[in-house]
Amino acid sequence: MESGKTYLVLENYIGGQFVPCSSYLDSYDPSTGEVYCKVPDSGQEEIDAAVKAAQNAFPGWSSKSPQERAKLLSKLADLIEDDLELFAQAESKDQAGLISPWNLPLYLLTWKIAPAIAYGNTVIAKPSEITSVTAWMMCKLLSKAGFPPGVVNIVFGSGPKAGDALVSHPEVSLISFTGSTLTGQRIIERSAPYCKKLSLELGGKNPAIIFDDANLDECVPVSVRSSFANQGEICLCTSRIFVQRNIYHEFLRKFVEAVKKWKVGCPTDPTVDMGPLISKEHLAKVKNYIKRAKEEGAEILCGEGINGLDLPTRNQHGYFLLPTVITTIADDSSCMQDEIFGPVTCITAFDTEEEVIRRANGVKYGLAAVVWSRNVGRVHRVAKRLRSGLVWTNCWLIRDLNLPFGGMKASGIGREGAKDSYEFFTEIKTITIKHTEM
Ligand code: NDP
Repeated sequence: MESGKTYLVLENYIGGQFVPCSSYLDSYDPSTGEVYCKVPDSGQEEIDAAVKAAQNAFPGWSSKSPQERAKLLSKLADLIEDDLELFAQAESKDQAGLISPWNLPLYLLTWKIAPAIAYGNTVIAKPSEITSVTAWMMCKLLSKAGFPPGVVNIVFGSGPKAGDALVSHPEVSLISFTGSTLTGQRIIERSAPYCKKLSLELGGKNPAIIFDDANLDECVPVSVRSSFANQGEICLCTSRIFVQRNIYHEFLRKFVEAVKKWKVGCPTDPTVDMGPLISKEHLAKVKNYIKRAKEEGAEILCGEGINGLDLPTRNQHGYFLLPTVITTIADDSSCMQDEIFGPVTCITAFDTEEEVIRRANGVKYGLAAVVWSRNVGRVHRVAKRLRSGLVWTNCWLIRDLNLPFGGMKASGIGREGAKDSYEFFTEIKTITIKHTEM
């Protein structure tokens, strides 16, 4: 850290107050590699305080009418211009722990907070330590919207410390988590002794299947976007593209041509298509996958390792990577099996419908898939047999927030969405009352 420089210092938001922490973590600007803010390094003590605040707020908040809760959510939605109003109704019941990842940090956090509080729960949320600023900015709006103290508490810090203290807190009975499959498994273990109710939205290794009757004029630009939007750091991004053999070379040529036109640069430049990756560690991890693919004999058609990056001086130490296209790669290689979560996509040819279904399903994940074909019968046959929570046909990332969302296999348990959130965030009780003469 450079001496003499001043940084934005975040504070936890507990019981409606900003509370300083005894120790802080450095947070880096990915476009320069420099420290730009300090994030509380919270632990058990801060989580205990937040749980207490949530418990104190619970009787008042859960007994408000759904309409009263909806009014405050609508105010907050207006203040941050978001979709929160969708969840503005229904019954309650508990303290919920919400843990969100660094990609799409505000969107994924509000997508957890809104249904939980709409159904009358009070919450303790822990955003990712590397993307905490937007959550901290939202805390100011919570007070402005008029939420009673303690309904939403935000505790910043690292996963293994603050996150673990939240997951293993005996008074927090619901955990809604979005993040990697590895951390999801850890959360299952840590919450098991308390039999907590869990919603886990985890990783993916999403296939796109392109049949020879696909409209390539639409398919190519959408597939480039589905592979590299947000640097490939969206859980729903495509990372394996299966192309029917008789159009394989045509698709490849058009795809690579389009990828080479993508501009990588500082996200403040409105003309760029792709910014930096989230962290130095993540950049190293993604580069390592590309290196391994090369060692295994795969071919890199464009991107890291074969093209140069031209960046302004200020961004020379940022975590940038070119969108990378890999071919001639075996289905069992790590690039085709592991979630890389970066701007890397593998393209391979297939012959038959049966073959491509088997190969697309041949990973441990099952989050999202795309099928491209003009044949409606085929689209239905294939989509039905893909072991994936979500299948788009001839499009990508078109979402109706009322539809359920979530993965199969190692991509998660419990589905989110308006109706599904109701099932997760509410409690159905059996109360037997025996009437006796007094
Ligand atoms: P991580 O699993 O590393 O972290 C997610 C969150 O969990 C962070 O807040 C992290 O804290 C916290 N955490 C880490 N360790 C623990 C622990 N032991 N106990 C409790 N909490 C912990 O995921 P990433 O942040 O790297 O996010 C990327 C992943 O998220 C990808 O796998 C992606 O597919 C997945 N994802 C899934 C989505 C879906 O809907 N299925 C949507 C978006 C992303 P900290 O970072 O502060 O250490």
